Amino acid sequence: MIADFEYFAPKTVKEALSLLSRYKEGAKMIAGGQSMLVIMRQGLVAPEYLIDIKGISALDYIKYDEGKGLRIGALTIHRAIEKSPVIQKHFRVLSEMEQNLATIQTRNWGTIGGNLCHGDPAGDPAAVLIALKAKLKLASSGGERIIEVEEFSKDYLEVALEPDEMLTEIQASTPPARTGTAYEKLMVMKGDMGIVGAAVSITLEPENGVCQDARIALSNCASIPLRAQKAEKRLIGKVINDALLAEAGEVASTETEPLSDVHGSAEYRREMVKVFVRRAAIKAVERAKTA
Ligand SMILES: Cc1cc2nc3c(=O)[nH]c(=O)nc-3n(C[C@H](O)[C@H](O)[C@H](O)COP(=O)(O)OP(=O)(O)OC[C@H]3O[C@@H](n4cnc5c(N)ncnc54)[C@H](O)[C@@H]3O)c2cc1C
Repeated sequence: MIADFEYFAPKTVKEALSLLSRYKEGAKMIAGGQSMLVIMRQGLVAPEYLIDIKGISALDYIKYDEGKGLRIGALTIHRAIEKSPVIQKHFRVLSEMEQNLATIQTRNWGTIGGNLCHGDPAGDPAAVLIALKAKLKLASSGGERIIEVEEFSKDYLEVALEPDEMLTEIQASTPPARTGTAYEKLMVMKGDMGIVGAAVSITLEPENGVCQDARIALSNCASIPLRAQKAEKRLIGKVINDALLAEAGEVASTETEPLSDVHGSAEYRREMVKVFVRRAAIKAVERAKTA
């Protein structure tokens, strides 16, 4: 049963932040409610004050400018990201990731900001955004700060938000030329939470095909979305071939700390990381060649 709470429905960021600064730890925000209602029903959270931010239309946007890159308002629903022509053109991996995130019904309610702030290491967007070197804009009544997506998750369902802060924007720069990014997740049925997921971004040197830069981020492989930095280092400075990608998968697997659950043992997840890192990397390299 859900415990009683006082309900607010601010229409502006300023109003929402002033409620947060007044009630701090006693308050929780709700956006699409796709995760929040579940954990409220489970009794994992019981806020005294519930701040419903879904009506803040100023945080529902997708903007793209080649210089500034991509800006997504925290209240943008998954379905809008999936269907956005500008994202399909410039950040195709985000649109592809959204196609396999939950059902259309959930994508029509759930927001990208809610997904990230929920802090589930199995969530898909964080890994893809880490591979894209994306940043988050956090706001409080005292001002704003920018944090790397990579720094945002602290532990299972725990993120780096202060009690009086909210997420307002996701920012991603336009990737350099000859960069390709791909995300592959292991799911039993389309739209399931991934048993593991791998996001890989590769930048190739224009003349010789040497890997100039690499980013590998994994979902559901630890208590936070995990960056596999040792595996990245195996790729950087080398001409990419299949053996090297398989090696990167092997190394990434050693960097994980997966849990065992009904969907798969830790051992199975480690094996699948090898497969999915290689699979995403092959796609990323192919994309980089023509980008
Ligand atoms: C059936 C089902 C299947 C799913 N499958 C997947 C999947 O395959 N992959 C995947 O990644 N996810 C999946 N999800 C999770 C889903 O994507 C998230 O539940 C959803 O995106 C959360 O967004 P929301 O707007 O509903 O957030 P809410 O549930 O409203 O909020 C979630 C958390 O974020 C906080 N919050 C929300 N917005 C902000 C903000 N702007 N600033 C600060 N705090 C904020 C809330 O206080 C709460 O703690 C699934 C969910 C369901 C129900």
